[in-house]
This record gives sequence, structure tokens and C-alpha cells, in this order.
Amino acid sequence: MRVLLVEDNEFNRTLLRDILALLEVEILEAVSGVQAIELARASRADLILMDLRLPGLDGFEATRLLKSDPATGHIPVVAVTSYAFEGERRRFLSAGGDGYIAKPLDVDQVLEVVRGYMEGREGRGLDPGR
Ligand code: MN
Repeated sequence: MRVLLVEDNEFNRTLLRDILALLEVEILEAVSGVQAIELARASRADLILMDLRLPGLDGFEATRLLKSDPATGHIPVVAVTSYAFEGERRRFLSAGGDGYIAKPLDVDQVLEVVRGYMEGREGRGLDPGR
């Protein structure tokens, strides 16, 4: 299982990396939407954890581009964001996003969501919103 972590904030990226280190996953990291797309195409990631507020190409647009590309469209994209508003959640899902993890990060929630994908339980622990 290869998880692509997309987060421009170093504190949050370190925290997510430390949480994912508790699981048997390989971690790749991107700090921008453009880098996320490049890495997703090159690395065959199995899951993408996507911050929505990114410099330049934001997480919404990066998700839309990933989902519209046959090479990456199958990769689940879970937003990791403080955007707790219904409108932002809908906007992410309409961009093709698969689920949602709220900031501030809850260790157990992150583990549950990632384990769900590791075990093929897509959707469990997520807020699929559809
Ligand atoms: Mn950010």
C-alpha cells in the first residue's frame, strides 16, 4: 500500500507522516497540487490524502485533474482539511473526491480511514456524502 500525502504545511505533514508510520504503508509526500499530480502519475499510489488549501493549484482542482486522467482516476482521494463546511465538502465530492478527514487531525480517524482502504473497506470511517 502506497499512500501519497499532499500537504504544504510542514507541521501537518509531519503529523500525518507520524500517524501513517503506525501502519504498514509506504509514504510519498507532495507539497503542492502540481507535485501531487506528477507523483501520482509516476508512483502508482494506492491512496491520496489531499490537503485542499495548497499554493497554486489547490486540492479541489488537483483532485479534479487526477480523477479526469485515466492513469490516476482510479486512485481514491481523501480530503484532509479544516474545511468543515457543507459547501466545501460538496465541492470536493463534485471534483471526484472519495472521502473526508477533518482537521484538527484525530489519530484514530486517520488510522481507521487508511486501514479501510488497506483492507478494501472503502468508505468505512469516511463521510462519503453520497
Ligand atoms: Mn494547506
